Amino acid sequence: MLSTIFLNKILIILLMYVKAIPENCSGCMVCETVCTMEHFGVINRYKSGIRIERKSVTEDIPHVCSQGNECNYECIAACKFDAIEKGDDGIVRVIEEKCVGCRMCELACPLNAIHIHEKMAYKCDLCGGEPKCVKYCSQNALQLVEG
Ligand code: SF4
Ligand code: SF4
Repeated sequence: MLSTIFLNKILIILLMYVKAIPENCSGCMVCETVCTMEHFGVINRYKSGIRIERKSVTEDIPHVCSQGNECNYECIAACKFDAIEKGDDGIVRVIEEKCVGCRMCELACPLNAIHIHEKMAYKCDLCGGEPKCVKYCSQNALQLVEG
C-alpha cells in the first residue's frame, strides 16, 4: 500500500511542472517570497527558484524552470562540473557541492529560469512536487501542469 502511494507521487512529479501565465501576473512577488521561505527560511529573491522580471510599469513576467518540458536541458549540457542533473523523479536539480557559480547554466537557459547568487545556482525544484508559488499566487498566474 505504502509503495503504491509512493509510486503514484513519483509519477505525478514526473509529469508535472510549473507553467507561468504572464498576462495574469500582478508583479506582487509573493511567489519569490514563499519560494525562499520554503527552501531557506529567509526572504531573499536572489535565492528564489522563480524570478519576476519587471518589463515595464504594467508588465511583469515570471520565469521558472519547465523541468525539461519546454527546453532541451541546456543547463545540464552547459555545466562542465556535472552540477545539474535530472533525478529519477523528473526534477532537474543543482548539486550544491559541485556548483562553482560559473554562470554557464544561466547563460544557456532559454527560459531565463536559473540564476547565480554568491557563486551558487538557484532554480525551481518543484518543492518536491507541491510548489508553494502555485499555491500562494492569488492571480492564477502559475499553474502546475502536465508535461
Ligand atoms: S505570486 Fe503570482 S501574481 Fe504575484 S508575482 Fe508571482 S506569479 Fe505574479
Ligand atoms: S553555475 Fe554551477 S550549476 Fe551552473 S554551470 Fe556553473 S557549475 Fe554548473
